[in-house]
Amino acid sequence: MKVFKFGGASVSSVERILNLGHIMKHWDNEKIVVIVSAMGKTTNALEKVVEAFVADRKEDALQLFNQIKQQHLSTAKYVLVTNYLSCEKKLKDFFTEVEWLLHDKPVRDYDYYYDQIVCVGELLSTTIISAYLNEIGIKNTWLDVRDIIRTDDDFRNAGIDWDFTKQRVEEIIKPSFEKTKIVMMQGFIGATDENESTTLGREGSDYTAAVFANMLDAENVTIWKDVESIMNADPKQFTDAIPIAELNYKETIEMAYYGAQIIHPKTIKPLQNKNIPLIVKCFIDPTLLGTLIHNNSIQNLPPIIVLKEKQVMLKVTTKDFSFVGDHEVRRLYQLFEALHIKPNLTQIGAINFTCVLDYWPEKIEKLALQASEFLNVEVTKELSLLTIRHYTKEKFEELTKEKTIILRQQTTDTIQVLMK
Ligand code: ASP
Ligand code: MG
Repeated sequence: MKVFKFGGASVSSVERILNLGHIMKHWDNEKIVVIVSAMGKTTNALEKVVEAFVADRKEDALQLFNQIKQQHLSTAKYVLVTNYLSCEKKLKDFFTEVEWLLHDKPVRDYDYYYDQIVCVGELLSTTIISAYLNEIGIKNTWLDVRDIIRTDDDFRNAGIDWDFTKQRVEEIIKPSFEKTKIVMMQGFIGATDENESTTLGREGSDYTAAVFANMLDAENVTIWKDVESIMNADPKQFTDAIPIAELNYKETIEMAYYGAQIIHPKTIKPLQNKNIPLIVKCFIDPTLLGTLIHNNSIQNLPPIIVLKEKQVMLKVTTKDFSFVGDHEVRRLYQLFEALHIKPNLTQIGAINFTCVLDYWPEKIEKLALQASEFLNVEVTKELSLLTIRHYTKEKFEELTKEKTIILRQQTTDTIQVLMK
């Protein structure tokens, strides 16, 4: 059995859904768990619905949601003929669930509503795609993954209950394979023991695929993307980026850790634990080899570059210019946790603590404000953070030329600089 994951970009238009059908036709003799994300930018659009709803702008929320409804209905109309009416009915049931909620007054916290609303993106996309595949003869069983993935109630960042979920995999997924070779489910979402919907963190569909691969002892996982393979740098930032044919788990985790937008960081561990290879392939041209990630030791990797723009440096010192001690650092980390902030780099000196963060204006403002209650805080914006793994002197010089380096951190295989 194999696991396929199709991300939002691979199902963002009618043509791309048809393309997914072409890809699936090549595999009609295999048992495959197919995990699909929300279409295109639907998750972002749903986030706007949540914001409006929580801010008590009910009419805006309903109107924004209506756009999402129309988009899905029109996509379904384009791709379906015989299955249209039954699909429309299912879509409308999901719409109704959200609209019911939007008619209420928000009484619980933001993260809770976020998950109840945002989860519908994956439910809608898989409903349409499952109906489409069935219609073109690729028989598949659609399952509501919320009946299978049980999580805690840490909304927006829910943790999976592995034992319970494994049991549901046995009870629900395995028997489904007796009906059809393909089982389709949503990435990114789950549910609590009280049947409240949860999400696993943005871009979490990769992780869902890995969890099922682990529990089903899959032969491999394929993540279908719009790039030819994993590259040594983001080709949108570096036109000379080159493809990498082979990586190992460790290097991939490191790349994700430093912010390479390749695979959700939580994806690798469940695969590594069972030695399941991960293949990254291009859905636009499936004849391209892509990248194979497995357990090999890999030599001679090119310099791997991650450039994060729009970084903010937060520098703190104690009010009396004494040492920044454990106590202050601990309180800072408590603030990070409360605000869901993950520093991209930290450096601790005798009298200061510096961290580099993504620029989320409200979060940074809150953080600076709360930290200034017990520390002196200095915020510098508009910086970029460059990370080079397997750096060479030439590469480093090339990429830092004409920049002012504000901060630098270096190990034997990784160098990071904060630049202006
Ligand atoms: N749809 C979700 C997101 O955009 C999950 C995913 O795509 O993996 O974050
Ligand atoms: Mg996505």
